[in-house]
Amino acid sequence: MPKWIARPFARPYVAGETSDEALVQVKTINDRGFAATIDILGEHVTNIDKARSITNQYCDLYHKIDAQQLDCNISIKPTHVGLLISPAEAMTNISTILKQAMNYNNFLRLDMESSLYTDQTFEIFKYCKSIYKNVGVVIQSYLHRSLEDVKQLAVVDFNARICKGIYQEREFIAFQNNEEIKKNFLVLAKALASKGAYAGYATHDHNLIDQLLAYIESENIPPDKLEFQVLYGVPMDGRLEELRDLGYKIRVYVPFGPDWFDYSVRRLKENPDILGYVIKNMFKSE
Ligand SMILES: Cc1cc2nc3c(=O)[nH]c(=O)nc-3n(C[C@H](O)[C@H](O)[C@H](O)COP(=O)(O)OP(=O)(O)OC[C@H]3O[C@@H](n4cnc5c(N)ncnc54)[C@H](O)[C@@H]3O)c2cc1C
Repeated sequence: MPKWIARPFARPYVAGETSDEALVQVKTINDRGFAATIDILGEHVTNIDKARSITNQYCDLYHKIDAQQLDCNISIKPTHVGLLISPAEAMTNISTILKQAMNYNNFLRLDMESSLYTDQTFEIFKYCKSIYKNVGVVIQSYLHRSLEDVKQLAVVDFNARICKGIYQEREFIAFQNNEEIKKNFLVLAKALASKGAYAGYATHDHNLIDQLLAYIESENIPPDKLEFQVLYGVPMDGRLEELRDLGYKIRVYVPFGPDWFDYSVRRLKENPDILGYVIKNMFKSE
């Protein structure tokens, strides 16, 4: 697919090619009363110089976020900063990013990639947590293992984003049925709340948001123990403003970078349903 054909499809979901372009979008998001988390697009890096360059770009981002006084943290993918080169390379680079997060009193989220990397990502997370408390991870509700992971990981100050999971996984690893995935999302939300953890509910599924709200209200879960998270550019039909006005924190995930094309094509190959969303969303407005 030539880039000029792909660009209009990717454009609503990618906040530009440079950090300056993306931070302009973050400012607009903040002005609407929402927080952001920013991510440089890319993954599966096998070149050591590239992994280190991405690491430096993340460090620079913390500096720019602070200088511009934005309400924004950072999400990274371990394979973007060297996990495929070696766990030691990823650990060194992520430690460098984490130290910069500490310098600026900001937060770092480790995104969760396919199940090939789940164990390694949790190991990296545990190491990060031993040196800085403001670090979080992601729990995917399609994975059969996730409840056990929450039980193991949710100790002091645990902070997890819960999402359904984007990668194609086999049946023995992940639920395939959307209703089961949603049911498990709620199970995980309850497990996190029972451990006093902070949860980021990352979903655009209005029915699931309704179920989460009913649960939060019936159990009196304090609003400062949770936030709702969505991807940049996905139309939410005024739902975010409603949630904000009810007193809930909203965070928008803002991806950007020159690697938008490879990223979008890989996502499409992994999950062709995304193309359906993109086309549907092109005909909808917020
Ligand atoms: C903030 C955030 C962070 C995430 N981080 C991770 C992660 O670390 N690891 C991981 O595996 N997955 C991650 N995901 C993706 C997630 O796992 C789901 O695949 C994705 O959000 C779709 O699930 P849904 O709950 O929105 O429900 P769905 O039922 O899939 O979607 C509900 C509706 O939302 C819209 N929609 C959903 N996704 C998109 C999209 N990409 N583009 C356009 N429209 C869309 C469609 O209109 C769709 O009908 C993240 C999602 C969010 C919101």
